[in-house]
Amino acid sequence: MNKKGLLLIIVLFVTLLFIAGCETLSLNTKYDYLVLVNKYSKLPNDWEPNVRLVTTKNAWKEDIQVEEKAYEKYKELKEALKEEGVTIELDSAYRSVEEQQNLWDEWSKDPEKGIEYVKKYVAVPGYSEHHTGLAIDICLKKDGKLVYDNDDMIADRETFAKIHKKLADYGFILRYLEGRDEITGYAYEPWHLRYIDNVEIAKEIMKKDITFEEYLDSIKDVKGTESAAKYQIMKYMKSYLEESYGDKITDSRYNVTKVYTVEEEKKDPTLKNIKFGEKDIAFTIEYDLKPAKEELVNDIAATAGVYDSDTGWIKNYSGVGVLRYDKKKKNYYIDNFGTSF
Ligand SMILES: [Zn+2]
Repeated sequence: MNKKGLLLIIVLFVTLLFIAGCETLSLNTKYDYLVLVNKYSKLPNDWEPNVRLVTTKNAWKEDIQVEEKAYEKYKELKEALKEEGVTIELDSAYRSVEEQQNLWDEWSKDPEKGIEYVKKYVAVPGYSEHHTGLAIDICLKKDGKLVYDNDDMIADRETFAKIHKKLADYGFILRYLEGRDEITGYAYEPWHLRYIDNVEIAKEIMKKDITFEEYLDSIKDVKGTESAAKYQIMKYMKSYLEESYGDKITDSRYNVTKVYTVEEEKKDPTLKNIKFGEKDIAFTIEYDLKPAKEELVNDIAATAGVYDSDTGWIKNYSGVGVLRYDKKKKNYYIDNFGTSF
């Protein structure tokens, strides 16, 4: 072989190694299993292109999709429960934002259902945990019959107690706890399981009998934990905006698009005039506001925001800010909030 040929082989080999390296790296970093999606916290914009889904069959032999790792662990959970005489089956899992939007559009035009019905019973596209692929609704199989009716499942406390006891061992948590509607936005759903890919954290959440929101809220040093940082930024943004707008708005919802790392805070020229304390975090955010009355739309919308009369929300605001830690009061607050740093 001549020198050129050898060089070509080396280049090819190094390229392959590089690609392989990127591949393993991306497998672990593309999405955060601790992502929070609820009625006021949106699915991250880059989630859908990256999520790895597998197709399987539910209890009715219909095709459904579940996030790859969540599905593997679900199968293990199912096996373990079988040994205790409990049979679980899949009902539904992943639903894309587009499917949710189609459902919303279709039903809101339906004369029998209409927009009021949709607003009440259909999750807003982008704000359902089922978009993550990490949420699974299960049903039961008892004496060869499927038990899938919500009331029947809620009534079967004994079986669900056995199921819930095993969840954390496989990285799952129960998402909508009884009597915690105020926090989660949902009534008790013993069948809705959420995969978080971390047995230790799942055990902590299940043992303390707390919601995922309460867990994210309990983390004191949010700087290193993206999902906790996002949760707390949203929480303080919500109170900041609700305070600034007073009773002009009745609701708000958020998508924290970026949480700056310490390195980024140091390097970003737009942040050079801002002093950062150890626990302070710069962020970018998108948000929607719900005006208390339609007459207030122009008053609130000002320069940004687009009013959607179908849903009653003013959408597409965006902003930047700093979540700052007050050492004396020992709490966070929103600072430097605006359209640019
Ligand atoms: Zn569900």
